Amino acid sequence: MGPRRAGPPQPRPGVPLSRRELGAARGRGARRQRPLALARRPHRGRGHGDVGEPGPVSRPLVGVDLGGSLIRAAVATGPATHGTPVRHPTPAGGAVAVLDAIAAGVLEATAGVAPAGVAIGVPGPVDPRTGLVYAAPNLHGWEGIEAGRLLADRLGCPVAVQNDANLAAFAEWTAGAGRGTRDFVFLTVSTGVGGGLILDGELVTGAAGTAGELGHVPADLDGPPCGQGHAGCLEGIASGTAIADRARAALAAGERSRLAAVGDSLDARDVQAAAEAGDALAGRLFDEAGRALGRAIGGIVNVLSPEVVAIGGGLLGAGELLFTPLRAAIGEIAFAVPLRRCRVVPAALGTDAGLVGATAWAVRRFTAEG
Ligand SMILES: [Zn+2]
Repeated sequence: MGPRRAGPPQPRPGVPLSRRELGAARGRGARRQRPLALARRPHRGRGHGDVGEPGPVSRPLVGVDLGGSLIRAAVATGPATHGTPVRHPTPAGGAVAVLDAIAAGVLEATAGVAPAGVAIGVPGPVDPRTGLVYAAPNLHGWEGIEAGRLLADRLGCPVAVQNDANLAAFAEWTAGAGRGTRDFVFLTVSTGVGGGLILDGELVTGAAGTAGELGHVPADLDGPPCGQGHAGCLEGIASGTAIADRARAALAAGERSRLAAVGDSLDARDVQAAAEAGDALAGRLFDEAGRALGRAIGGIVNVLSPEVVAIGGGLLGAGELLFTPLRAAIGEIAFAVPLRRCRVVPAALGTDAGLVGATAWAVRRFTAEG
């Protein structure tokens, strides 16, 4: 941020710029901003369901990754590339404060140029047709928020709202582990388990918009509850949170393990370190998590016959602790024919997948011929 001085108007959070202000901001930004040079128009868009009318593509397209602790925004520079992201802490004050901060972050990313379209990934279930966020458990006061309309009002452009794991899946499909496929499944395993589906070249969102919740498929009839309280979900066995919870429960039941020395701060990384050091309890927990993931993937292979299943998220750091039992378990369930046509691989984009996905989705939605 440079020193304040008299000059063209600065965008204000929550206050749409007037036509005159937009003109001034555009003139200023045009000198600073490299023009958006899309290499191609890769997809035929659907051109419906977003609030507002798309602008010409010479104005920037912006992707936003909304997280529980961080808002990141960046201008799309191609079908799956983005400029230097703007990062700001997510305000704690409720939905209006967060929406204002998102709008401010978008205009900071464009250097004040009015965007042609914005795509945002939200950490919770959404209806992408209407821009409604059903809920976002990590964000205070985000239930039934019409994020698409409220952001379109602030920014004066159409805003596409998507689930963040779906956008990470779209990123991996566009530019990562699923590139070149038509049928692709993405699983992310960290504190929770999420995912997304690309089938026949389209991101699948289903009738309610919430499809792709691969962490909440049944994995064990009598399994522990997931983060949403369902007994027996994959997430209740295979997430980092679940692995730590199960370690604590085993210790409380008197099982001997070097994890007893860790104390209340015990998390999945402690369990991973103990497993790598040969601890039996820790090894068993990763084995069970990997096996549950593998069986779930085997079921997905049977239902969808994907070309690639990519696995991302923080638990990937456990490497073969997770992948060896995972690979072994897929064949316990999957039919041989679709399994032969399916590769199960680590995801390629890491923590940038959310923002790559958001900018790529903005390009997909708002460079359509109609
Ligand atoms: Zn669940």
